[in-house]
Amino acid sequence: MSRISTDRRGRVVGRFCLGCGSVYTQHSGRHAGKPMYGRDHISSPCSHEGRTFDPTEDWWEPAVEVLSPEPDSPSETPADSAT
Ligand SMILES: [Zn+2]
Repeated sequence: MSRISTDRRGRVVGRFCLGCGSVYTQHSGRHAGKPMYGRDHISSPCSHEGRTFDPTEDWWEPAVEVLSPEPDSPSETPADSAT
């Protein structure tokens, strides 16, 4: 369900609302107030506003840190082929 591949999922840092894309802290029991991350301008209030982050609900998912990919490939800096 998540767009983040399993091997790049870090620790859970909050709760991600699938409706409006805002992230609330794990301490936030409800989808209310100011999110720790979200869009500045939301045209319409999220339909989940004020609802409890219930584990049985599927309109949200744990927000996890996205780990950096393994540095297995050196960054390809285009060689300056100026004559
Ligand atoms: Zn929302």
